[in-house]
This record gives sequence, structure tokens and C-alpha cells, in this order.
Amino acid sequence: MQPFLMSEIGAAVVLPPREITVSQWADENRVLTGAAAAERGQWHTRPYQREPMDVLSPSHPCRQVVLWSAAQLLKTETLLNFIGFIADIDPGPVLVVEPRTEDAKALSKDRIAPMFRNTPSLRGKIAPVKSRDSNNTTLHKVLANGAGHITLTGAISPSGLAMRPIRYALLDEVDRYPASAGSEGDPVSLAVQRTAEFAHNKKIVMASTPTIKGASRIELAWRESDQRDYFVPCPKCGEYQVLTFGDGTGPGLVWPEGKPEDAMYRCAGCQELIPHHQKAGMVERGEYRAANPSSPMPGFRLSQLISPKKSWGEVAVEFLAARKSPETLKAFLNTVLAELWEDAYEVPTDAHALLNRCEPFEAEVPDGVAVVTAGVDVQADRLEMEIVGWGRDEESWSIGYHVIPGDVTRNEVWDHLEGLLNAQYLHASGLPMRIVAACIDCGFKDATVLRFTRDRYNRRVYATKGRAGESAIWPRRPSRKNQTPFFMIGVDHAKAALYDRLKIAKPGPGYCHFPIGRDLEYFEQLTAEKKFTRYHNGFPKPEWRKPANARNEALDARNYAYAALHALYASGLKLAVHCDRFKQMVETRRKAAQSLSAAPASTPSQAQHPARREPHDPWIPHRDWFGRD
Ligand SMILES: [Zn+2]
Repeated sequence: MQPFLMSEIGAAVVLPPREITVSQWADENRVLTGAAAAERGQWHTRPYQREPMDVLSPSHPCRQVVLWSAAQLLKTETLLNFIGFIADIDPGPVLVVEPRTEDAKALSKDRIAPMFRNTPSLRGKIAPVKSRDSNNTTLHKVLANGAGHITLTGAISPSGLAMRPIRYALLDEVDRYPASAGSEGDPVSLAVQRTAEFAHNKKIVMASTPTIKGASRIELAWRESDQRDYFVPCPKCGEYQVLTFGDGTGPGLVWPEGKPEDAMYRCAGCQELIPHHQKAGMVERGEYRAANPSSPMPGFRLSQLISPKKSWGEVAVEFLAARKSPETLKAFLNTVLAELWEDAYEVPTDAHALLNRCEPFEAEVPDGVAVVTAGVDVQADRLEMEIVGWGRDEESWSIGYHVIPGDVTRNEVWDHLEGLLNAQYLHASGLPMRIVAACIDCGFKDATVLRFTRDRYNRRVYATKGRAGESAIWPRRPSRKNQTPFFMIGVDHAKAALYDRLKIAKPGPGYCHFPIGRDLEYFEQLTAEKKFTRYHNGFPKPEWRKPANARNEALDARNYAYAALHALYASGLKLAVHCDRFKQMVETRRKAAQSLSAAPASTPSQAQHPARREPHDPWIPHRDWFGRD
């Protein structure tokens, strides 16, 4: 039994929760009615529903539960029974998070309200509806005994997630949450943070049908869980197995040509065909088995192959209809089979391989570089800047990578950045070079960035915002915010170019050079995203994705530095011509330095000194982006 403290659940309750499990409560109390309920009458817990519900009981020590399930099988009813149990037996503050606010409203109106109306033990457990009473709205219901409330929100809403402490966090369809709630960050983390005060008796449920492999939150959570799959016995040989769809050759569904509705199941043990009418008995005798039993977090996984509402024949019919397009096949895999969809994607160059090819640079700016640009990624607590040297055919050298820590709303970080933007970078020939164009991400703190770039456009320091899709890397014209110009850059093209180039193995056109001393984290960020092919109305559409927890600032900084090179092209720079001129200048300079160092009174430092007055970018054209052309 759990230790019980009065202060945990409020003074209104004077007795500890009854020793009753969630499934016992549902079997004894819950009544199903209403349009949304497929079945009517007294709730009856099915064998595969019992364990997922009972780990939510106060007597079970777990704090987090993972439900990876096909549609209409486990998730919603488990959450509803748990909400009923909480209201009746063990009240506390509840937060239910759905992907969108509309989903939260629908759940409240179509499922939660009817449950409280039709289940006798729940009647009167929610404050009565009065007009303009904030104690009972669609998204916020105060429990009548004052010991808690049920609040619902969409994952997109930072205000809904940043509420007072909650004891029960029910996170539904987590794979459909946005990456960030507004600008506040991961909605799951935001909700989980709210449970901190209830460390000893909280319950967090993460539930979802899965989506895309590598970008799925439920997959990440499942990996940490104890991974319980539902095993059912073959009625012929008795072997316990997890039902799978199969490919028609081994275990799984098989059907006579043209008759998918007659599908049967081929046993993994005896290879015998099991007719559909034996499924119910198999499921009745089934049991969960954990693949990772040392985890304290119960995780449950179920597909519709065990569903009492759908025959194997119906699943086969749905499959044949779904396989006509990648979009519908993905929906079938996700919602019927509860499997992850693995998109065709390009494998980026391995971060370790890039780390291993770091090379010593003979100078701050090695030979071959003719133009230097910079890209700056803006985070709340730091700037990340890459300085890139470009040579013939866009062969590139990563000259520096700087993390400038500090609150970006304060001047210090920008002073630091200004120093780096204005610094001289010494070329192998001794020639000092400067950054001739820079792009700073204004997608996150636009006002702060625009204030910095506003007076620096003549130095080609541009505020830029990344745009996904088909856009060109550099736009034809600037966009404006409150009269201040900034540039929308086509990051997908920039990423595609970089990822193609990271695969080039030999120095030459397009090759990317990195200096010794760059760490693995840098290369992991640089290669964090993958290019997938998604299908929209049957047409392939490239899409970039990164795993939920991966960082990608190095990739963004490189894209912005590359966009800065494109800003120069848009101003009229011809890279090949420029490289020729630069090479000539370097050769002339080297000859002069040789004859100078031959003279006894001269030293190398004196030889470099006059260079400071040389124009650093004599042939880089200027363009007035903001004139009335
Ligand atoms: Zn068998």
C-alpha cells in the first residue's frame, strides 16, 4: 500500500483510497451509453485492458505508463476509466493533453461528460453547471469535493500547459503533438514538469498510435519502458505468440486469392491456419510479457489483430485498399497494426566519419579560401556562430565555430558577436581577411536580431528566417517586419546541398573541410536531420526531420553561412572569377614577401603590417537591397 498523507489530496477526504484497482472500479461502476460508445451497458474489462488499467491504481508503484496502441482498442477507454476512478476514489488535479484544443473539447463533450452523466457513482462529482460558472466549463471541471479538477488542453497551447501543479498527467496521442508549445518547448516536458510536487504519488500516462520511425515520441518512451507485448496461445499447438500481419509467407494473415475477407492466421509454432472464430478464445487466454522487465515503467503495445471489434478478414480487406498509396498505407500501419512507418530517407553522412576526417589547417584561413561568410543561430541563452571560408566550386573550410553564452536580450552577447564579425582572419598567405557577409537567424527573437542588423546592412549583416519547401536559398527581395527588412531563406535547398556535399570523400568541388579540434557533438548536430520523402495527394514531397531530442544548431549555423554566400551571388559575385583574382593577389603577395624577407632588415611581422590597410574585399560588389529599384 502507498504511504498516505492527508495534505496530498486535501482535507475534504478523511479516509485513504479504497484498495480497489481501476479495472475493478470500472467493472463495478462504469456505465456505457451515448452515441460515441460502441457498446452499451455495464463496462466489462477485457483481458488485454486489465493490466494497463491496474498499473494506474494507487497501489501500483509506477509513476509513468506508456500505451502504444492501435486506434480504438485501448487508449481512450483506459484514460476515461482512470478519470472516473480519480473523480470517485482518489481525487487530485488532472491535466489531459490532446494534440489540438478541438480534440480536447471533443473528448470533454463526447466522452467525459456522458461518462459522468451515465455512471451513477460519478453523478454529482463535478461541480454543477451554472451559467458563467468557471468551475465547470468544457476544458476545466472542478471536482465537487474540492480535492481536484480535470483540465483539458491542446498541446499547442503554452498557457494550458503552464498551469498550477498537477498530480495526473494524461498525455493522449503524443505522436501528434507539435515539437514546441508556442515558443515554450516540448509539450510533454512542460506537462511532466507540472507533476513535480506530486513526485511520490503522481501518475503520468503517455498514449499514442505510433507515427514515423525515428520521429515518434511513443517509440522513445516505449524504449525506456518494460515493453509488454500481448501474447496469445495457438489453439492447436499452444505456442504463445504476438500476432503480426506478416507478408503471407510466414506467420501472420493469409487469405485465398481474391478473398481477403476469409483471412486466417498462420501460427508461428505449428504453421497451422487458425480460423477467425478461434480468435476470441486466444485473446481471452492471452497475457502480457515484458521484454525489458527491469524497467519500472510499464509499457503496453497492442494492434488491432487482437481487436474483438474487427475480424482478421476486415484487416486484410483494409490492407488491400490501403496499399494503393503510401499515404493510406502509412495510416493503415499506424492505426490498425500500431506499427511505425519507416519512410524512405537518405542516410546522412555518419558523424563519426566526419570527425575522423578532421585535418590540421595550416593557417586560420587555409589556402583555397577566397571568401569568408558567417551564419549565426539564435537561442534564448546563447548565439552559435560558424565562420566558413569558400573556394572554387564552393569547396568549403570551417574556419571557426563559436558558442557565445548569455541572455540574447542583453547587449553583451551582441557586443561579443560584433567583435567576431569585425575580426580579421589570417589567410595562409598572411593576408588578413574579413567576414564579407553574415546571416543571423531572426526566427526566434526577431525584434532583438532586427535591432542588431538594422544598422549593419551596409556591411552585409542580414537578419534571416528559414523557410521550408521549394523556396530559393536567397530571396529576390527582402521581407519586412515593422518596416525593418529581413530575408526569407530556403533552408531545405541549403540542407540538401550540404548533405550531398558531406558525402563527397575527396577534397575538390563541394568538399567540406573541418579542422582538428571540432568535437563529435558538432558533427552530430550537423547531421541531425534526415531527408524523408512524404507523399501528399500521391506526389512525393521531400521533408526534413530531426529526432525529437536532437540538437541541430551547427546545421542551422552552416545553412545561414551558406545563405550569406548566396546573398553575395545575388549581389553579383561570380565565385570562379573572384577565386582567380584572389589567387593572383595571393601569389603577387607571396612573391613580394619572399623578396622582402630576403632583405636582412625585414621581419615577417613587418611584412604583414602594411596588409592591414589593404582593402579586404576589393571585388565584392555591393547591392542596395532597399532602394527603389
Ligand atoms: Zn500452433
